[in-house]
Amino acid sequence: MKIHCAEVTTEELNYLQANLSDLEFSSSPDKLDGETALDETIEMLSIFVGSEISEGTLRRYPNLKFIATRSTGYDHIDLNVCKKAKVKVSNVPSYGEHTVAEFAFGLILALSRKIYLGVDRLKKTGEFSYDDMQGFDLKNKTLGIIGTGKIGRHVITMAKGFDMSILAYDPYPDKLLAEQYGFRYVTLEELLPASDVVTIHVPYLSTTHHLIDETRLALMKPTALLINVSRGGLVDTEALLVALEEKKLGGAGLDVLEEEGHIKDEYSFLKYGHPQATDMKVLLANHRLLKLPNVLVTPHMAFYTGEGVERILKTTVDNIQAFLSKKPQNLVS
Ligand code: NAD
Repeated sequence: MKIHCAEVTTEELNYLQANLSDLEFSSSPDKLDGETALDETIEMLSIFVGSEISEGTLRRYPNLKFIATRSTGYDHIDLNVCKKAKVKVSNVPSYGEHTVAEFAFGLILALSRKIYLGVDRLKKTGEFSYDDMQGFDLKNKTLGIIGTGKIGRHVITMAKGFDMSILAYDPYPDKLLAEQYGFRYVTLEELLPASDVVTIHVPYLSTTHHLIDETRLALMKPTALLINVSRGGLVDTEALLVALEEKKLGGAGLDVLEEEGHIKDEYSFLKYGHPQATDMKVLLANHRLLKLPNVLVTPHMAFYTGEGVERILKTTVDNIQAFLSKKPQNLVS
């Protein structure tokens, strides 16, 4: 069977070829669209988020039966057109929920124990001193989790390991999960004042824009930490700055900033870089958040581990093998 891999790096191609040795490969590092001229007899495509699958693209490849996108998002593929043409499409539904959860916990520990401040002082001054570095234990503290989906539930299991109490908020509560891990779902208004650490794991939607705003920040303990590894727009940055500067909040760990704008799929950073990298450089130079000692900002890197990257390719290989053995998986169309 003939497969064409678009937007593929040499390393990715080597992995796919090594694990799908029965297929006849062609490949290109470039995006694919209706204008791309390939062998018209190809039967499978493996693409990424920059490739557009439209009616025009499908018309060029009448033998096409299957598209494996190496991404979670699939809005670069016209699913209606694929359905009409009887082309099945599979995606990579998840590649590392625990990867992002581990990073959220990294931020929690770095802030609660002032790890970054300790390292920074020692490197800059050579002072082997813990003056002003007193932290707090996580054991017996309350973790407020906003969003108990794929990532949030991993944060819950980790928090249990630290003997933390858990409160959660999610419009779609998972009662079984709550029973299994012994936590309660409460309203945001109950969660925020009761939590020592609040961590956000919800998608950015028009309904979640500034989910944490001035009013909700005012409900939090003045010692509490706010962690956001989801999307910048979930938190009102200006209100956060004021709360931190006026010492109405203990600290913040942010892997995402509102200024990043709309981000679809983290893994597109690996191929195309951050879409706002240049603007962000200028902007960050003056960003007040970066200047606060109780704030850690990281460059949207919670997803980025070797294992996470490999899982994308492994799932793609599994998707292709499942299709070949007539038991397709992870189908979105
Ligand atoms: P998910 O869809 O599995 O879970 C999201 C949860 O949020 C669901 O349980 C949903 O019911 C809940 N939810 C929806 N609206 C809500 C609201 N208004 N209030 C509270 N909860 C609400 O998603 P996930 O895989 O856990 O990912 C969460 C987010 O993490 C993603 O949307 C993405 O923005 C972000 N993310 C960041 C990185 C990174 O590198 N920083 C990597 C991957 C994902």
